[in-house]
Amino acid sequence: MRGRELRGELDAFLAETEQDLVAFRRDLHMHPELAFAEYRTTQRIAERLTAAGLTPSVLPRGTGLICEVGSGDGPTVALRADIDALPLQDEKDVPYRSTVAGVCHACGHDVHTTVLLGTSLFLAQQAAAGLLPGRVRLIFQPAEELPGGALEVMAQGGISGVDRIFGLHCDPRVDVGQLGLKAGPITSACDKLVVRVSGPGGHTARPHLTADLVFALAKILTELPAALSRRVDPRSSLSLVWGKVEAGTAANAIPDDGLAAGTVRCLDEGAWHAAPDLIKSLLESVAGAYGVEAEMDYTRGVPPVVNDEVSVEMLAEAAERVLGAGAVVPTQQSLGGEDFAWYLESIPGAFARLGTRSPDGVTYDIHQGTFDVDEKAIAMGVRVMAATALTALWEVGPLDTVTTTAMA
Ligand SMILES: [Zn+2]
Ligand SMILES: [Zn+2]
Repeated sequence: MRGRELRGELDAFLAETEQDLVAFRRDLHMHPELAFAEYRTTQRIAERLTAAGLTPSVLPRGTGLICEVGSGDGPTVALRADIDALPLQDEKDVPYRSTVAGVCHACGHDVHTTVLLGTSLFLAQQAAAGLLPGRVRLIFQPAEELPGGALEVMAQGGISGVDRIFGLHCDPRVDVGQLGLKAGPITSACDKLVVRVSGPGGHTARPHLTADLVFALAKILTELPAALSRRVDPRSSLSLVWGKVEAGTAANAIPDDGLAAGTVRCLDEGAWHAAPDLIKSLLESVAGAYGVEAEMDYTRGVPPVVNDEVSVEMLAEAAERVLGAGAVVPTQQSLGGEDFAWYLESIPGAFARLGTRSPDGVTYDIHQGTFDVDEKAIAMGVRVMAATALTALWEVGPLDTVTTTAMA
């Protein structure tokens, strides 16, 4: 019953605030801040939330904040936006171009932040009117690009007591007014691997008296990817690709050390968790066969974002309700990484792709100095996030009480 009124309430709210939200986004765009340095951004968000009667709490490092709307024993739904910019030059010729050399909101996090601010203000109104059937935790997360901000939020108890979490990301390949959704994995994992081999070294005339390090390194380069292709389920698309290799200085000398570096990409969460141990054991067995010592340095990126099916249904239902029929479009798993994945390792939730392309307009790519959005996406994002939070609360909450309160 409440669902039917929601669209009208959002229309009324956005008629008043959309211009202001666009101005807020442009201000952030002109003053981008890098991961864990988002002090000004954090202050701007905090000021606006405080002015709306909310009580934000800034994270201990002074960047990023968490704020709760609503009270009582009802369920808790979290909405997350990332607030950091990228170390890139802004190449656009627009009045709101970045004023900071070499720093740019080229991943659309200024839009995510503004969408969540608008959603917060709307939900604060709903709570004041007694229409919020539970609590919504607003997470303005720092340092997504590092990555690491999600882990910082979790270390501060940011998702404790949360039943379900939602987030979205600008997608310049989807038209404004549409929302890209997919159940299951929607982004990928990407880790970095460095292998160092060492041996006694010697003359190339006598490889049998030492360890033929270059030969062993070559075996590692080809055997590791080959063995992985037979030890890991092919559907996980785990792939190790080398980008750098170094060993030796002279044609007739066997060197005493060498190095290879590459990336491990993976579409599947289980395979991603198992990858370091498996690679380590394969490395040791290949190196051992040729008498060289091998050690590896494995740097974890982020796991894939794996969307919970029920949460995706909630997003779809909410988007149809407030954007209209046909607003939900399918989307594919990308090879990019996104640290929202860390939340979904602990609690159910889903991550959506917000259309930011003007119909028939240019398709900008993210992580480019030319990236920009159709600003109508901000209001669309507010509609979707607000409706999703309410949908999730209605579906897990004490529906009878809610209906009574709403109707009173
Ligand atoms: Zn990015
Ligand atoms: Zn991003």
